[in-house]
Amino acid sequence: MIAVYPGSFDPLHNGHVDVIERAAAIFDTVLVVVFANAGKKPLFDAPTRVQLVRQSINRPNVEVEEGSGLLVDYAHRRGARVIIRGLRAVLDFDYEFQFALMNKRMAPDIETIFMLTGEKYSYLSSTLIKELAGYRADIASLVPQAVAQRLDYHFQ
Ligand code: ADP
Repeated sequence: MIAVYPGSFDPLHNGHVDVIERAAAIFDTVLVVVFANAGKKPLFDAPTRVQLVRQSINRPNVEVEEGSGLLVDYAHRRGARVIIRGLRAVLDFDYEFQFALMNKRMAPDIETIFMLTGEKYSYLSSTLIKELAGYRADIASLVPQAVAQRLDYHFQ
């Protein structure tokens, strides 16, 4: 069973890593797909975001690549039947609900499965990480080492 975990991952943080690791323990293959997000102007370009996920996740059944176009088309192309999304708080729900129902309408054969955030990570978001890093706050315990280094370099 192949699952896709799509996101902007701008940048990857420990909340994402937790979801990826838990998904990798359930599914045969997890495809982490870095999409451009039309509504957000990214800090890092897509190849950099992909590289940071690759450097941070070392599991034989996790693949990382850049995606474009419709997520459900990508999932069909790769033979994935599951989309994984993470849920932090009620705040995520509206958007995720809409996203999942629209994908279901376009591709009834694909299921969206939600993973509840790890309790240590419920407050983590890429936006918060970027803001903290911009103020040179210590984010070493919130993101993988490769991401901390890249943010350090960016904001120095
Ligand atoms: P997007 O721009 O598609 O929302 P993100 O990179 O922000 O992409 O997030 C990708 C997925 O990871 C989303 O489903 C999001 O809800 C989930 N996610 C983000 N932060 C966390 C967290 N701290 N714990 C669990 N899931 C999370």
